[in-house]
Amino acid sequence: MFSSHSKLYRHASPGVQEELLALTSRLRSVITAQGVVRRTTAAIERSQWLAPAEWSALQLEAMRALALHAGRRVPYYREMFARLGIDPRRWRSLDDLTEIPVLTKDEVIAAGERLLAEGGPWLRFKGSTSGTTGRAMAGWRDRASIAFEQAFVERQARWAGYRRGERRAWLRGDPVVPSRQADGTLWRMNRAENMLMLSSYHLTPQNGAGYIEALEKFDPVMIQAYPSSVGYLARWLEEHDRNYRGKSLRGIVTSSETLGEAERRIIARRFGCPVFDWYGAFERVAAIGTCEHGHYHVMEDYGRVEFETNGDGTANLIATGFGNRVMPFLRYRADDRVVLADPGFACPCGRSFRVVERVLGRVDDAIRTPDGRHVVMLDWIFSGLFGLVEAQVVQERLDEVCIRIVAGPEFGHREEQALLLRARDRLGAQVIVRIERVAQIARTRNGKFRQIVSRLSGSNETDV
Ligand SMILES: [Zn+2]
Repeated sequence: MFSSHSKLYRHASPGVQEELLALTSRLRSVITAQGVVRRTTAAIERSQWLAPAEWSALQLEAMRALALHAGRRVPYYREMFARLGIDPRRWRSLDDLTEIPVLTKDEVIAAGERLLAEGGPWLRFKGSTSGTTGRAMAGWRDRASIAFEQAFVERQARWAGYRRGERRAWLRGDPVVPSRQADGTLWRMNRAENMLMLSSYHLTPQNGAGYIEALEKFDPVMIQAYPSSVGYLARWLEEHDRNYRGKSLRGIVTSSETLGEAERRIIARRFGCPVFDWYGAFERVAAIGTCEHGHYHVMEDYGRVEFETNGDGTANLIATGFGNRVMPFLRYRADDRVVLADPGFACPCGRSFRVVERVLGRVDDAIRTPDGRHVVMLDWIFSGLFGLVEAQVVQERLDEVCIRIVAGPEFGHREEQALLLRARDRLGAQVIVRIERVAQIARTRNGKFRQIVSRLSGSNETDV
């Protein structure tokens, strides 16, 4: 409509663009069922402190209600329950849920509209995956499911010290500044949300100072950002040997990309505040977020998550979100994996929600090696290399990868050799590793930074 993705927006003056951003926010707030936001917010402020037995009981009740609804109103589940003799009223514990077979992405695509609930509400909104995993998948939501999601995103913001209405900055891939504009004011103010929206597409060494000054002047309480975008600014600060000087910043909330540990540390150090990381699958089946102590908690009041272990300390997520009755996914296998934590770990924040060590990237975002390994999370091979601004690993063939780097003059022969050595160490001797210096690394259509790009068949090249 009027959002920053529209043609109308692209051709408007900066002043009109700011009016359009505010208008879009007001429309979104009308579309979102505010009653559901308030009720869910009140409920989850309490449920975050429940003991395991209490939230397990809550999950069983929510699963039963959702499955009964699905069995009555969703053709796909009505047929399945009849065929397999499933009756959610018989469930006595969470283990009983496993009588429902795991739902895969291919099955969702094949089922199509049979996964949609019959009857109201009639006002429904279609979303779609960006295609980073190859095949795009459509998903439907209604006003209540959008509100449910918002309540959880807002709770994560409260964990970061933010209260609704306070100043916040947004650096998350919205094309708020048209690409033809190369410099100048690379942000727009959204007055409806008291939010400074900055472009993720104009982050260059020349523009770094302008971004930092704009943020310091606006002085937000919270920054919501892609890790790569705020990470870029943190590295810019590091290169200029200075820290962010805003007075009010309490927390940075990252999401939508994998946050590496080295990245998290430099952001926290240069911005002088904790980084909170949020994982929410497009399919709306699971949410995982970090608390004040930096531990990743599975939001047990958002959905039921089962860990399908891979035997190497990682697990796939089989998950059911409680918030979407228009297109309910029961026991859906998400694309993302987690590294499991010690099950006996008790987080000092006092919440009993299960903790995972971290969330890994999508399975497709991996380098495959001739000896059959899938290598993910390559960020450590780049850590501590002076002058390195950004890097992306591109797999051209099974036995060849190219590391594209954006680097300053400090990144010399010695750094290059160190990087080659680490990459070979990680990928094995059979893989040829090349380094290519580039002026910049392109973002995906959604403005996301991809650390790993695989050009092997069946991989994720579509969105690059
Ligand atoms: Zn915690």
